[in-house]
Amino acid sequence: MTTVLFDMDGIILEGPRTDPQVYAAAADEALAKLEADPTPAQRRDLRRHGIDSVRERCRELELDPDRFWALKEAAASEHTHERIRSGERGVYDDIDAIAALADRTTVGLVSNNRHRTAEFVADSLPIEFDVVRGRDPTFEGFRRRKPDSYYIDDALSKLGVDDGLHVGDSPKDVVAGRAAGLETAFVRRSHNRLLDRPEGTTYELGSLIELHDLVEP
Ligand SMILES: [Mg+2]
Repeated sequence: MTTVLFDMDGIILEGPRTDPQVYAAAADEALAKLEADPTPAQRRDLRRHGIDSVRERCRELELDPDRFWALKEAAASEHTHERIRSGERGVYDDIDAIAALADRTTVGLVSNNRHRTAEFVADSLPIEFDVVRGRDPTFEGFRRRKPDSYYIDDALSKLGVDDGLHVGDSPKDVVAGRAAGLETAFVRRSHNRLLDRPEGTTYELGSLIELHDLVEP
């Protein structure tokens, strides 16, 4: 029985990452909620992810950085869920292979995306994930994203296993999977087709369907 942990963005959700416009709108909403009045330069930094510059801008505006970050993360999840509901952001055709795999082995979802969004996606799909883990809505949670193995380790410990396969579309997934002691599958999508095969890749796949023969029942 092999445990298979899937990355989300670029594996299930189309495209490699959340649209930066989502974070821009989320930052604007958090600022409005906090009744802040930033300069254009402050707003620009607060829309981005740079932790040091976000902290610095919050200090300048006398905002609690942890509160700002949590509000921005929550708003980003709401926007993302709306984009998924409306079909603006779709899912890949081959994710049926995950549902089929879930019937015969342990499967998990481990994402750098926000935990709320990972749960939303898991709930919206006909796939029975045994564990779902996305990033915590804190600065520390953001720092622990892959290539750090933190969230993979956490998922493995929740499942009570210490080996398996991590399936992702980014070199970061390979690094994190390796660091967690797993085999790794690097899936080719249109956005990564020109990348070199990441060092440490165990299997290179053209489609999730290939997992069917790879994973022993
Ligand atoms: Mg990805």
